[in-house]
Amino acid sequence: MIKLYDTLSRKKQIFRPLSNKAVKIYACGPTVYDFAHIGNLRTYIFEDILRRTLEYNGYKIKQVMNITDVEDKIIKKAKAEKKDIFEITKPYTKIFFGDLKKLNIEKSEFYPKATEHIKEMVCLIKKLIAKGFAYRGEDGSIYFSISKFRNYGELSRLKKRELKIGVRIEADEYNKNQAQDFVLWKMAKVGEPSWPSPWGWGRPGWHIECSAMSMKYLGETLDIHTGAVDLIFPHHENEIAQSEAATGKKFVKYWLHSEHLLVNNQKMSKSLGNIFTLHDIERKSFNPLAFRYLILTTHYRSKLNFTWESLEAAQNALNKLYKIASASPRNDRAENEKRKKFYSYEVQLCKRTSDIQKYENQFLAAINDDLNMPKALVVVWQIVKDDNLVPSAKKRLLLKFDNVLGLELNKIKPLKIPQKIKRLAAQREKLRINKQFIQADALRKKIEELGYEIEDAPQGPKVLRN
Ligand SMILES: [Zn+2]
Repeated sequence: MIKLYDTLSRKKQIFRPLSNKAVKIYACGPTVYDFAHIGNLRTYIFEDILRRTLEYNGYKIKQVMNITDVEDKIIKKAKAEKKDIFEITKPYTKIFFGDLKKLNIEKSEFYPKATEHIKEMVCLIKKLIAKGFAYRGEDGSIYFSISKFRNYGELSRLKKRELKIGVRIEADEYNKNQAQDFVLWKMAKVGEPSWPSPWGWGRPGWHIECSAMSMKYLGETLDIHTGAVDLIFPHHENEIAQSEAATGKKFVKYWLHSEHLLVNNQKMSKSLGNIFTLHDIERKSFNPLAFRYLILTTHYRSKLNFTWESLEAAQNALNKLYKIASASPRNDRAENEKRKKFYSYEVQLCKRTSDIQKYENQFLAAINDDLNMPKALVVVWQIVKDDNLVPSAKKRLLLKFDNVLGLELNKIKPLKIPQKIKRLAAQREKLRINKQFIQADALRKKIEELGYEIEDAPQGPKVLRN
C-alpha cells in the first residue's frame, strides 16, 4: 500500500490508480532560457523518486513533462541577444536533458514542446469561450474569467478576497480591468513570435499549455500531477480551472508538491549570488549523484538547506556505498572464515535470510510512506553496519534498493580526485622522502578524514577512495 500526501485534501491518501493500465503522471517542466538551478533539480529528483517508487511496486508509468519554449522570459532574452527564440531554447533544452542524465533521472514517456502544440491550445481556448468561461478583453487578448469557476482557489486555499491582494499584476499576464482573470491567448506584439488563431495572431499564455498537453497525452483526468510548491498558485490553480471548466471532469486525483531548496538558509536569488547549477557542482569536482544523494537525505515536503559542506558529506557517504556495492565474493570467503569460529553455518544462514527479509520490508515501508527517503536511507546504513550480513548479501540488497535510490551503485564511477587532495598527497610525499614521518602521518590522517586514502605502491603513492 502506497500513501501519498495530496495537496488538495491536505492529507496522506492511499494511492489507488484510475485504471489498471499505466499510472498517468504530469510534471511541469522547465522554461528553457537558462540553466536549471539546484532548486529546480530538487523537484526533478523528487519526481523521479515518485516514479521509481511506483515502478518498484509494480506499476507501469506514463509520464509527461512539458518543455516551455515560448514565454516572456525567453522572448526578453532573445531580444536582448538579438536572436530567434529557438536559438535560445534549443541549447538550453539540450543542457536540461544532459542534467537529467547526469542525475540518473529516468526518462518520461513524453516531453512535448509548447510551440509544437499551439493547435491544441487554440482548440481548448475555443471550448472555454463556447462554454462561457473565457472572453475577449479590451486589448484583444483572451482571458479566463475566474468568477465563473466556482472552485477557484481550492488548491491554494486562498479566498477570493485574498487572491485579489495576493496576485502580482504583471502587465500582460492578467486583465488590467479584471485583475484576477489570467490570460489564455496574448495578442501579438511587434517583433515577438506569434501564431495564427481565430482571434488574430498571438501566442498562448503559460497556464493553458499544461492543460492542453496533459489532455492530449494523458486524457482528461490524471492520476498524479507534480511540481514545486511555488507552482500551487497561480499555475496549478489555473490549470485546474481551465481543465475542469472545459471537460466538466475532475482534472487530477493526487497533487504532489516538493518544497524549496535554500542555500545557507537563504532563498536563492541573483542579488545574493547564490544560484547554483549542476555545472557549479561539477566544477568543484563533485559527482552529480552526490547531489542526488543529498536530496534524498531530506523529505520532499521539508525545506532543504544546501551547503557545500553538506554536499561534501553526501559525497563521502556515496563513496562508502560504492565501496560496499563493489564487494567481490573474495570478501565473503574471508568473512565466512572469521565467523565459522563463532556460529555453525546453518545458524548463520537462517539468521541472514530473516534479516534480509526484514530490511526489504523496512525499505518498502519507508518509500511507500509518502516517499520517506530519509527513513529508507536509515535502512541502507543499518545494512552497511550489520556484521551479520556477508558483503555479497549487503551488495545484493543495496543494488535492489538502488532501483529507487538511483545512485548508480551498479556502475562504479572512476574516482575523480579533487585538487585539494592531490596537493595534500604531494605535500605528504615530500615529507616522507625527507623522513619527516610524524608530519607525513598527520597529513595522511587529514586526507583520510576527507574521505580518501593513500596506498604506497612500488611505483609511488596512489590516492584511493576511502
Ligand atoms: Zn505546468
